[in-house]
Amino acid sequence: MVKDIATPARTQEILKKHGFSFKKSLGQNFLIDTNILRNIVEAASLSDSSGVIEIGPGIGALTEQSAKVAERVLAFEIDQRLMPILKETLAPFPHVNVIHKDVLKANVREEMAKFFYEGQDVAVVANLPYYITTPILMKLLEDKLPVRVIVVMLQKEVAERIAAAPGSKDYGSLSIAAQYYAEAETVFTVPKTVFIPQPNVDSAILRLTIRDKPPVRVNNEERFFQIVQASFAQRRKTLLNNLSAYFKDTLSKQIVAEKLQGLNIDPKRRGESLSMEEFARIENNMSEDE
Ligand code: SAM
Repeated sequence: MVKDIATPARTQEILKKHGFSFKKSLGQNFLIDTNILRNIVEAASLSDSSGVIEIGPGIGALTEQSAKVAERVLAFEIDQRLMPILKETLAPFPHVNVIHKDVLKANVREEMAKFFYEGQDVAVVANLPYYITTPILMKLLEDKLPVRVIVVMLQKEVAERIAAAPGSKDYGSLSIAAQYYAEAETVFTVPKTVFIPQPNVDSAILRLTIRDKPPVRVNNEERFFQIVQASFAQRRKTLLNNLSAYFKDTLSKQIVAEKLQGLNIDPKRRGESLSMEEFARIENNMSEDE
């Protein structure tokens, strides 16, 4: 029987055979621990009728573990040098399709429609390239793709920021942006030692369970996110100072203060103490669409 790709010996053998050299600029840190890979796949609760989307299959270590469980796997890989390697390592899994594309430029919805059947249970399962973690996640969420869950490995600090609750030091506009679309939780952390080459940062597995609908109602999503961002623009400033900078062309500081008080939100609070519902209250009552 062929050994799993993620064992240190088999990974080294594959890399050597193909003369592969890592590109730091592409965030290439490959996992060499099969147990961790299995745990990542398990966190997505796949069934034998599930579809999986992977971003950055590398030499196929995680792809192989997903392919053992799921019905179909669709992977996007930017590095042309990995394509012949993946063809070889994933040969036992004809239900895997690797597309040579930058995921940020790909039309993921269209590729999904071509590859998965309508209504298929689909999960994103990936060990993300760390230099573009946030843009990838925000693209997947904002595009409102038909996926049930996103289970990804990323920098521990970013996972903590995404899953943070109001009042914690990690809570910010990224937490709200992600939690508007999904329930976020850190499933487990992963030491640097299970990668080659070893990254400089610790990692964590983040699970984003996509919501049927956002937890708050807003008039205008774009402005809601602008207000959230503005409220965190200078973390040490009060909500009043940050928001009056945002509304400077339309509302005086005095009016902003009065409006916040009218919404039962103390203008002296800082953005990091506000719940998503409070931000939605601000957007619903202080926007020009009123
Ligand atoms: N999945 C493999 C593993 O767990 O060992 C490799 C993960 S490695 C952290 C990230 C992978 O993403 C690399 O294979 C890299 O070439 C690929 N990648 C980087 N930027 C990408 C992009 N914009 N679109 C698609 N793949 C990308």
